[in-house]
Amino acid sequence: MTFQSSSRLYAAVSALLWPAIFCAGLTGAYFAFESNMHLLWFNVVYLATVAVIAFFEWLMPYEKTWLKRDGETFNDVAHTLLSKGGVQIAAAIGTSFPMAVATVAHPVLSYHSHFWPDRWPLIFQVALGLFIAELGLYMAHRLAHEHLSLWRFHALHHSVERLWVINTGRFHFMDSLFKIALSQIPLYLLGAPLSVFLWIGAVTGFIGLLTHCNVDMRTGLLDLIFSTPRLHRWHHSKVLAEGNTNYGENLVIWDQLLGTFYNPPRPSSTDIGITGKVAKGFLAQLAQPFSRQGRKEIIGKKPKELILQEEQAAKAAAARRNSNARIRKSG
Ligand SMILES: [Zn+2]
Ligand SMILES: [Zn+2]
Repeated sequence: MTFQSSSRLYAAVSALLWPAIFCAGLTGAYFAFESNMHLLWFNVVYLATVAVIAFFEWLMPYEKTWLKRDGETFNDVAHTLLSKGGVQIAAAIGTSFPMAVATVAHPVLSYHSHFWPDRWPLIFQVALGLFIAELGLYMAHRLAHEHLSLWRFHALHHSVERLWVINTGRFHFMDSLFKIALSQIPLYLLGAPLSVFLWIGAVTGFIGLLTHCNVDMRTGLLDLIFSTPRLHRWHHSKVLAEGNTNYGENLVIWDQLLGTFYNPPRPSSTDIGITGKVAKGFLAQLAQPFSRQGRKEIIGKKPKELILQEEQAAKAAAARRNSNARIRKSG
């Protein structure tokens, strides 16, 4: 029996892959967090998950043309390492910050820490943490799409023309820092314990890998709750009305509540990318948003053209109104 998209086995694997990889990743994270070197073992589990997903990308790709090299692999990995470095520094601050608060006895923040329901079972604390962090992630992501001053950093993530597991972490470090700030600060202020931060990091890591993967997964009802590859492909669409949707990083609850959830009943877009141009090399990509010329290149010609079109349409409408008014006066 061959492993073809029409076979029953293919359909079963396609439907089971997302939950199976997610649960396996979390189980690995559990053992990593129980060990003495939890960051080291977590990274081992994470890399093993990357390898498993890469295998399924080869075996059952959603879009075959995305298997071709795009010359961006080095940059994808370099941005991932830089952004992950940022996250790990934040995690280190996360470790020392509550201790500093406790020892210096900052009265305001110590008081605030009473808000966190630390007697709940850990799984409910993590669910609450995810729900709160997700609002920050949603806001940071949506703002990055709706304001050019932030889009200049986020465009790097959208500049890819294929999705695969390796460009999951392709974020400008400024984009990552903005997201970390908006999602983690509320949790610090509420006094969430370090274990909640670690588990949110694990969930975000595995869902992120799955979100970007080029595997033909059938996610069905999962699309209503989690940010799945299907939803995220719409988010990468070149068509603005499709791309400015599905901002959720792990959960799509805030998209559902705030009207940006998008999941029409047809195969999700493979025509992805941006209208502007992102620089070629890693360092050039880091520097590009900070220069005037760079910003212009990132934003591209389309906004200017759109502005001109809108101006012309407004002028034509005004001319029509004037001539109608003249006709009415003379009539
Ligand atoms: Zn985006
Ligand atoms: Zn993406």
